[in-house]
Amino acid sequence: MVEVDFDLCEANGVCVGLAPDVFELDDDDQLIVTDAADLPENKAAIDDAIAGCPRAALRWRP
Ligand code: SF4
Repeated sequence: MVEVDFDLCEANGVCVGLAPDVFELDDDDQLIVTDAADLPENKAAIDDAIAGCPRAALRWRP
């Protein structure tokens, strides 16, 4: 599963662009991880988001 370090996340939306089925920003600019994060077909996009997060706020926990 993917984990968000909310102390690091600055809600810039980079992960939303890379994995739009998995990450959303709510009206308060709080990052939300959707249930789609559990789908194997989204793993590659999640990996892209982990690599692309400029704050290194995402981690994969097997
Ligand atoms: S890319 Fe990183 S800093 Fe930006 S919203 Fe996603 S987790 Fe937060």
